[in-house]
Amino acid sequence: MPSSVFAASCFADKKINQRPNCKSAWHANDAGMRFERRSEYAAAMFALGLWGGLQAELRAAEATHAKVSPVVIAVRYLDFRDPKTGKAISDAESVNTMVNEVSEVWAQCQVGFRLEAYDAIDPRQYGTGFSPVSFAELDHLREATENKRYLTMIGTGAWNRSGNLGHSGSNCYSSFPRDAADGIVCEAKVAKNPILHAHEAGHWLNLKHTNDPASDGVADTTAQNSEHDLMNHFVAPGNRLLTPGQCQRAREAITEWRQNTSIR
Ligand SMILES: [Zn+2]
Repeated sequence: MPSSVFAASCFADKKINQRPNCKSAWHANDAGMRFERRSEYAAAMFALGLWGGLQAELRAAEATHAKVSPVVIAVRYLDFRDPKTGKAISDAESVNTMVNEVSEVWAQCQVGFRLEAYDAIDPRQYGTGFSPVSFAELDHLREATENKRYLTMIGTGAWNRSGNLGHSGSNCYSSFPRDAADGIVCEAKVAKNPILHAHEAGHWLNLKHTNDPASDGVADTTAQNSEHDLMNHFVAPGNRLLTPGQCQRAREAITEWRQNTSIR
């Protein structure tokens, strides 16, 4: 049963100076309120036995895309090592497990993800601290570690909320295909969270949030299916569905921008 909800807010998804859809920090409070309601909603779904219906919906979506040949994205994970203790936040095995779970979520689009490289790094080598404090620092980190052969995921120490990262409750950011700072960066407490990384991979593959289905550039997202959609602004464990239109848009993004990361 879903026990937690993460707010991967829209202003978390793009560079701070490229955030046209992101109004303000008030979303953080809003997220807290929605958290309550969504938890209650999930509990009610279980009580009504509707969870099985969602699973059936997922299977139907997978069947729809079964005819498309699969593509696998190479993932590189950079794991921050705490300069004080020398210890990394995660380890290769648990990161591999997480990436495999991301892959399971994306199987409905015939898109897979595979961990091809794992490095525990000293953040100081890339000109940043263990606990990043600003959007600029996260962007610099991704630019300094860029490698277009991979989807780069970075796990940092807990974010220092005294800077502009403190304006939201978000703890993961992703780039869109045209952004200069490429990749996904998450702070320690969600560094191995598969559903959140699957959501951020959606942005990396050019998917927008479905909360306003009219403006996400996908014809078949609706207010109804957004409730279970992976690209819902609020990422809960039960938000795993992608529509055929979203799958198509993501696969087109691979062809157009992410071909170098494709293993097959
Ligand atoms: Zn998002």
